[in-house]
Amino acid sequence: MRLILLGPPGAGKGTQAIVLSKKYGIPHISTGDILREAVKKDLPLGKKARSFMEKGELVPDEIVTGIIVERLKIDDAKKGFILDGFPRTLKQAQALDEALKKESIYIDLILYFETSPEVAIARLSGRRVCKVCGYNYHIKNIPPKKTGICDQCGGGLFQRPDDKEETVRNRLKVYEDQTKPLVDYYIKEGILRKVSGDLDVKELFHRFFLRYSPKRSWYDSLKKR
Ligand code: AMP
Repeated sequence: MRLILLGPPGAGKGTQAIVLSKKYGIPHISTGDILREAVKKDLPLGKKARSFMEKGELVPDEIVTGIIVERLKIDDAKKGFILDGFPRTLKQAQALDEALKKESIYIDLILYFETSPEVAIARLSGRRVCKVCGYNYHIKNIPPKKTGICDQCGGGLFQRPDDKEETVRNRLKVYEDQTKPLVDYYIKEGILRKVSGDLDVKELFHRFFLRYSPKRSWYDSLKKR
């Protein structure tokens, strides 16, 4: 299964991707995670990306497209993958189409997380991340047992710099201007399904399955190409 999760920051794509990745045994590929790791390790890629990320702007298309094309060549992506946060512009979507076409493979499904700005802002401003293992919490929805401490590894929790209110507003604007047009692009291709990003992760997962899998896998019900 080859899946793209599309939607604004704060739609819950990353959290849902972790659940789906476990369920289907396919890798969760997040350009945001790859870039943050490169920034943390001060790699050349991180040096190029850092200033864009801090402002909530998009990293240039050539850089992120290169990352994805290389990542999809790794063996674990041969049986499928979940793309989270890529593509984010029409240029990226077209570059992805071209790269996949060369390998004669196709995206099966775009899950579009339609999400209200209020929910997105509340999720992002309450998000806390473990410095050590990267596990995500939310001060209200998914609080750690001990304030500021990761349940998984005991590491300290912090707020992502781009989750501060000012930057969040810019990220949502960038999404509206540059990423939302992809909804129409994929509707035309006939492979987009809308789901509500306002639902919590478990409920969305449950509804997704109810809708697509009364008896057999929802995946079987998709248009085969
Ligand atoms: P995310 O974790 O997906 O919200 O991404 C965090 C930041 O990484 C974004 O605000 C961008 O600066 C950068 N980024 C992630 N994915 C992309 C992409 N596909 N294109 C451009 N920039 C990206």
